[in-house]
Amino acid sequence: MADFSMTIGGEAVATEGTFGVVNPATAEVFAQAPECSRAQLDAAMDSAAKAYRDWKSDEGVRRQCLRDISGVMMASLEELAPLLTAEQGKPLNDANLEMFGSAMWCTYFADLELPRQVLQDDDEATVEVVHRPLGVVAAITPWNFPVNLAFWKIAPALLAGNTIVMKPSPFTPLSTLKVGELLRSVLPPGVLNVVSGGDELGAWMTSHPVSRKISFTGSIETGKLVAMAAAPDLKRVTLELGGNDPAIILDDADPAAVADGIFGGAFANNGQICSAIKRVYVPESMYDEVVDALASRAKAITVGDGTEAGNKLGPINNAPQFARVTELVADALAHGATAAAGGKPMDRPGYFFEPTVLSGLSDGVRIVDEEQFGPALPVISYRDLDDVVERANGTHFGLSGSVWGTDTDRAAEVAGRLEAGTAWVNVHLAMGPQFPFGGFKWSGIGVENGPWGLAEFTDIQTMHRAKGTSGLSPISSMVVG
Ligand code: NAD
Repeated sequence: MADFSMTIGGEAVATEGTFGVVNPATAEVFAQAPECSRAQLDAAMDSAAKAYRDWKSDEGVRRQCLRDISGVMMASLEELAPLLTAEQGKPLNDANLEMFGSAMWCTYFADLELPRQVLQDDDEATVEVVHRPLGVVAAITPWNFPVNLAFWKIAPALLAGNTIVMKPSPFTPLSTLKVGELLRSVLPPGVLNVVSGGDELGAWMTSHPVSRKISFTGSIETGKLVAMAAAPDLKRVTLELGGNDPAIILDDADPAAVADGIFGGAFANNGQICSAIKRVYVPESMYDEVVDALASRAKAITVGDGTEAGNKLGPINNAPQFARVTELVADALAHGATAAAGGKPMDRPGYFFEPTVLSGLSDGVRIVDEEQFGPALPVISYRDLDDVVERANGTHFGLSGSVWGTDTDRAAEVAGRLEAGTAWVNVHLAMGPQFPFGGFKWSGIGVENGPWGLAEFTDIQTMHRAKGTSGLSPISSMVVG
């Protein structure tokens, strides 16, 4: 029997099967999540399709619902945040912030105008571009920010008039299931369905005949499978995928001044952020100083169980990711890197890894070329600025990147040369519901957030109203009279 229920058609739904959810701070199963069957997914899609008929027609109701959801999230912090910490590992403070951010996303979208543009308004016609909802959205999320990333989808999709079937990661299903439960009292039945299960459930969703749009956040590898699954039915897709963000420090930067920003941009959420700094390029002249500044921060930061006050970093979320970070760091050390801080798993139960700063390595080593998605940061020296921009861009990734320097115009010019969806100057991970976020190249297709993200939950319709009654356009008049 599962400890949490799925939400289908506004009701709690139990399942025959369950799967264990592990607390990464102990590496032990602490709860059972429901395993959605194929028939239950059909029921969720069906209920979303039925709810769509009314939901799409009343914008006022949708805006009010988003405000109500925001209120529920703020009122439920004490219930949701510890649950997120238990399944994800992040410190309670961060879990609270994630809930707060989710509420903020709803408030922002509740007041965002649906884009509408008048193209012609004269004696002949009024022509407008209006945005129409798509129908049922299949929303699939990863384990690093399960709730916040769910709301990156829920808030705009609902405002636009769509209904949703949402599936969280099997590593972190509980907080999203709980959100589904809490919102049963706010949303009409079927508007938001939350199901849980393994990767196979995601694949069923992306090939399901009812869903018209797939909004996916996860790895590049899975993103490609999603795109393939969407193709036969021409479902719309937004793919928010992996990154390998470079941070380039320029030769006029003050190492002491940028160290906090770089460290925070790399180690927030234990490095498990798609757009975290994953490699730092530093001029040779200040290399040692930067490595020391980052290493001293890595050594000083408190790591431990997220439920204990004072810990800034928790464990890595899951066993495969823990194994991957361990392997990439060991590979770097085997290829001549030095661990200026950390370098190995912590000697305690759970998936704890020492915050690690690696020096003495270059491009061509796996931890520089691949996405580590964990608390290990390679620091690479460079001599020539054009060359380092080329190296920063020389991957399939293109999510975001940052450039750090005292002359901010020069830094902005360099940042503008990054092949990345977001280019930051003297900051990293500055995000908000109003800023579009998405990747170039293999880091994604489309964007989330802002009016641009909202538009991705719509198709555009050209609404052409002729002023006269002749009914003839220049083309149709070719065959008449
Ligand atoms: P993942 O791709 O393994 O899983 C993501 C989700 O997809 C999970 O819910 C999973 O069950 C589901 N899934 C797995 N196989 C599927 C399939 N064949 N069809 C449909 N769904 C399927 O990713 P993850 O390990 O959970 O997350 C880490 C990755 O996510 C990293 O690469 C990270 O960079 C990326 N990420 C990107 C963003 C962004 O906004 N660009 C944000 C957060 C995380």
